[in-house]
Amino acid sequence: MNLDLSRRSFLKLAGAGVAATSVGAMGFGEAEAAEAAHVRPFKLATTTETRNTCPYCSVACGVILYSKGDLRKGEKADIIHIEGDADHPTNRGTLCPKGAALKDFVKSPTRLQYPMHRKPGSDKFERISWDQAFDRIARLMKDDRDANFTATNNAGLPVNRWSTTGMLAASATTNETAWATFKFAKSLGIVGFDNQARV
Ligand code: SF4
Repeated sequence: MNLDLSRRSFLKLAGAGVAATSVGAMGFGEAEAAEAAHVRPFKLATTTETRNTCPYCSVACGVILYSKGDLRKGEKADIIHIEGDADHPTNRGTLCPKGAALKDFVKSPTRLQYPMHRKPGSDKFERISWDQAFDRIARLMKDDRDANFTATNNAGLPVNRWSTTGMLAASATTNETAWATFKFAKSLGIVGFDNQARV
């Protein structure tokens, strides 16, 4: 932005700047910082802490979600703050800029929160239940595997490949969950298997 300042305006602005600096020099800056430090604990005083994992990348940093609203009283929990988990061995409280902006991700109006289905020929997605989604995925997987599974190669050796369906898994998980996910894919014979960390 270009400022077209006359000499008189410039002197006025400079005077205001000197006044502000003088107020800071009188110690009000420190008072403000002390007040902020005093108030900060109260921001989280009545919240519920929930530990979780940042969903963005395979570093899988630990986060704490602070929510207001007592579920036992029928209130809706609302996340008001997210920060790094100081007790987590991976990140020890630190977060990269993506993790630090996690609350915006959680509250984003475009965030996908439930299964959506676009019927053949339709131009829009419609919400379906998790049961409907699981049934449909299982049906499509079974049909495709039955039609395309390769038990042996041309030499007659067993290969047990299912190469017409791929699987993309999330990376923000524990070693144990990742191991179980990999076993699930490989037990079906899925060849095309990857995870979010490499995408
Ligand atoms: S905070 Fe950053 S580094 Fe940590 S898991 Fe999230 S995206 Fe990855």
